[in-house]
Amino acid sequence: MSARLRLLLVLLLGLAGASLPPPAHGQLVTREVTGPAARPIVFHYAARDSTVATALAELAVTYVPRPLIADGLPPDTLHVIVAPTEGAFVELTGGRAPDWGLAVAFPKLRRVIVRSPRLTGGDGADPATILRHELGHLYLDLAVGGSERVPRWFNEGFSAFYADEWRWVDPARLAWGRLIGSLVPLAELDATFPELPAPRLSYIQSMAAVRSLRRRGGDDSVRLLLDRIRDGATFDSALRATYGLTLGQFYADWNSELGREFGWGVALTDERALWIAAALLVLGGYLVRRRALRREIARRRHAEDVALGPPDDHSLGVERWERYWEDDDEEWKGDPD
Ligand SMILES: [Zn+2]
Repeated sequence: MSARLRLLLVLLLGLAGASLPPPAHGQLVTREVTGPAARPIVFHYAARDSTVATALAELAVTYVPRPLIADGLPPDTLHVIVAPTEGAFVELTGGRAPDWGLAVAFPKLRRVIVRSPRLTGGDGADPATILRHELGHLYLDLAVGGSERVPRWFNEGFSAFYADEWRWVDPARLAWGRLIGSLVPLAELDATFPELPAPRLSYIQSMAAVRSLRRRGGDDSVRLLLDRIRDGATFDSALRATYGLTLGQFYADWNSELGREFGWGVALTDERALWIAAALLVLGGYLVRRRALRREIARRRHAEDVALGPPDDHSLGVERWERYWEDDDEEWKGDPD
């Protein structure tokens, strides 16, 4: 084969490759499992992710957020795609900011995209927790007939709280956020969420807010709240009917609750508190030592002054000599002869 022919062949193969679907779609295995209330849940994954996909599928067979009753939800099929490469993840999510940087839910499409744990490495996030969170978004959307009907903080807080993400969230961060004023007020997390890389506090805050609602009447009241929204109530009126609170009152209550629960006591459990305490000790030690040194210098100066006498004492002999030399008197030089 001539070099020119070989080049032509390579070019043609390259063009054919460009028109093929991206590898993310072409190489995925499909496996369907039966979820709660006989719901079909389809997993799409690369063969090399089959171990994690199998574990996730087993979880999906039984998981539904606690307040929801699976039988009462629309029977739509759910899809979970384990993205095998970064490129596939970006393409499948359309570059949308993912939850904790790991996964994205598209509730209207009944679809969840998770990064293969091979890509995320050992960052400590449990794939099962991540999947529960993303399925939470899908189930909430099914439960209320469109998750845009609840505030964004509730959507995130519900998905995260019932996915049990408390285990890997540090409440000390929330306490610090409150103390240094970097917390976005809950009311402002209504329609939007801060972009990466700083949404972490907003997630923790949202989870704590949902936990606060849950404390007022358990999972049953949360279900009642969602049922009311599904039946046409706004979030505000459903909240009033369920908890006897307007949304404004809840935000105010939440703020004072936050102050009680996430104060200095919690902040000081943070690693940063230890560093600050250590820095203060070093600084304190330095200041004490500097003061002692100054005192010692002042004491020695005083002792020297006492030994030498007052500095303006002109009675010393040397003074007289100086005066003698200063005199404009030629006689002291003696007779030149
Ligand atoms: Zn989320």
